[in-house]
Amino acid sequence: MERNEPMEPKDTLHIDRRKRIALVAHDHKKRDLLEWARYNREVLTRHEIYATGTTGKLLAEALPEATIIRLQSGPLGGDQQIGGKIAEGLIDLLIFFWDPLMPQPHDPDVKALLRVAVVWNIPIACNRATADYLISSPLLTSAYERLLPSYEAHLERTVGDEA
Ligand code: PGA
Repeated sequence: MERNEPMEPKDTLHIDRRKRIALVAHDHKKRDLLEWARYNREVLTRHEIYATGTTGKLLAEALPEATIIRLQSGPLGGDQQIGGKIAEGLIDLLIFFWDPLMPQPHDPDVKALLRVAVVWNIPIACNRATADYLISSPLLTSAYERLLPSYEAHLERTVGDEA
């Protein structure tokens, strides 16, 4: 297979009714995310939330009844931790209110997180309207078979001396 040939989905991953939702917001977007989370508190408390440090702290105050797993603060590696969990199949949904008007010290991590979410076919919302669509989807509360793209061509490519 040519390197740039589209990859056909190969397998599926069974996603439970109870989703593992990653929530991340840059500083100027935190108020927006908190408002959204409060509005959707009933739905969110039925799922498991993973959040970067400061976002998670604010969410825990706003939704004390929710299950929130707090990771490192984003600029200290939190985005990378979420990306790692996505690669391990431990996150089902990413709600990431990133700030389009402000450079971040961890811009490469932000890009890497968005990239790995696409690599593993994870639903992503980067703004409130998309988050509204995702959270009101019937798929959020039912089991789901998520297609996993096939990366066989990449994994079996020849490298080094064999190339
Ligand atoms: P924070 O990180 O929740 O710790 O502020 C968010 C981010 O910048 O990725």
